[in-house]
Amino acid sequence: MIVKEYVKERKEEIKELVSKMEQVPSIAIVQVNEDAGSNAYVKGKLKDCSELGIRADLIKLPVETSEEELLKIIDNCNKNPEITGFIVQMPLPKQINEETIKLAVDPSKDVDGFHPLSKLNPCTPQGIIDYLKSENVEMFGKNALVIGRSNIVGKPAAHLLLKENCNVTVVHSKTTFEDMSRYIANADIIVIAIGRQHYLDNKYQYNPNAVIVDVGISRDETGLHGDALPGLPVRLQTPVPGGVGLLTRLSLIENLLKIYRGI
Ligand code: NAP
Repeated sequence: MIVKEYVKERKEEIKELVSKMEQVPSIAIVQVNEDAGSNAYVKGKLKDCSELGIRADLIKLPVETSEEELLKIIDNCNKNPEITGFIVQMPLPKQINEETIKLAVDPSKDVDGFHPLSKLNPCTPQGIIDYLKSENVEMFGKNALVIGRSNIVGKPAAHLLLKENCNVTVVHSKTTFEDMSRYIANADIIVIAIGRQHYLDNKYQYNPNAVIVDVGISRDETGLHGDALPGLPVRLQTPVPGGVGLLTRLSLIENLLKIYRGI
């Protein structure tokens, strides 16, 4: 099923579930930037919540907000029983340390799954695994290649694929072209998250049964582009836009519901 259809179906199920809940789950989104990408993500998250009957409050703070002020807001969210879970939208302005903020969020309310003690996984990798399962993509004993090693996508994606018993290889900007070509040709599942427009193209050879999950987003005057050229000769390739971005948004709601249910 294409990503859009899968997300639509799952959202219908969630809407039904939420309509039967005694107390409506609620999420707070704390935003301390004026970043165009973040504005678009936040708008999407608010739209999803409104469609699903979930209460969502945007706490938008000026970019000059100090770390101390933000920590106070986070403390309020941690303590407020009316907030089921919350997220602090990244990136943060330079005067605020991202690690300090991630650690200040109560792990039991950490919808993003960024806190080391959180029982939840970060939304993008979790959304990818859920989608691969829904598509019956075999992971057990398969060769998964993760291109990119960031803390929010590459590393947790590798970790979750390993939990699914894939043989996981992680490559990055220091990987040679020869090695990259060999790993790509050998991969059954490729998760690419590097932010380089159409990095995967016809210069590489692919396993025709491979699945490519394209996480990357590059923007130019013609719109959004993924890390993989559309139409590569593989079994399944997620599009950009309309792919992993939707899976990430869905996963955020799934994480909120896990918190609501006590995980
Ligand atoms: P990041 O923190 O900038 O990390 C990028 C990773 O890509 C690094 O590990 C880097 O390697 C690697 N890399 C860069 N150029 C490379 C190259 N030429 N060949 C191989 N590896 C290369 O990025 P991120 O936060 O993971 O995000 C990656 C992309 O995914 C971005 O476009 C972002 O917008 C997108 N994204 C999308 C979603 C979504 O929901 N759709 C969510 C999160 C992120 P080194 O470690 O060696 O520097």
